[in-house]
Amino acid sequence: MKLKILWMYHDLMDLYGDKGNIQVLKTRCFERGIECEVKTVSLGEVVDCKDYDLFFMGGGADLEQTIIYEDLYARKENILEAMDSGTNFLLICGGYQLFGQYYLDQDHQKIDGLGIYDYYTESTDRDHRCIGNIAVEVTIGQETFKAVGFENHGGQTKNVRTPFARVLKGHGNEYKSPYEGFMNEQVIGTYMHGPLLPKNPKLADLVIRRSLHKRYGDVVLQELDDTLEDKAREVMLKRLGV
Ligand code: GLN
Repeated sequence: MKLKILWMYHDLMDLYGDKGNIQVLKTRCFERGIECEVKTVSLGEVVDCKDYDLFFMGGGADLEQTIIYEDLYARKENILEAMDSGTNFLLICGGYQLFGQYYLDQDHQKIDGLGIYDYYTESTDRDHRCIGNIAVEVTIGQETFKAVGFENHGGQTKNVRTPFARVLKGHGNEYKSPYEGFMNEQVIGTYMHGPLLPKNPKLADLVIRRSLHKRYGDVVLQELDDTLEDKAREVMLKRLGV
């Protein structure tokens, strides 16, 4: 079995350890004897997104978002084909924003999103920037669990119909929002850097399972020892009083 990951704009969209998510996916595959191929693609490079099981894009400052958005937009048809083919998407912060309608940045410049989802993002003033550790509650099917991360965004994302999580501490989609991110059966878009996956192994495995589904159907993943990861998350939940 093999997991094929496409890591978009690895050299530009990478804040607060986002690249650590890739490391975790690789390690959790390796420990289970699942091969993991990671392809990095940046501006102007040719790739067929539907050849991959997981499309990953990290966050970026307004500047990086301005640099990449046209290149991303040029891939829209191919991204839609990948979605149709069952590819999964993990999108962090600036990456998440660009799958919506648009991002109005700190300088009031409008950066076009792919427009695949209805949500849109507008930057707020400096006093309302969402910065700090964040704890959320995620419900997937019958299971509910807590996850932690770190957020730092001026963008306030509105009109999210299906959020990723409920905010326990921190901000999420908007300053003091009750909800965080966007999720559907194939996509997780979230403001949580941290990076997200090291302290939230349940999420890492969810992403692996959903991604493998494209080519292998329902896969039961071997249990791993997550004692250290769980302790790290507990420390943060305690610090946040959750
Ligand atoms: N530049 C965007 C914002 O400030 C995204 C930042 C990020 O990816 N952390 O909202």
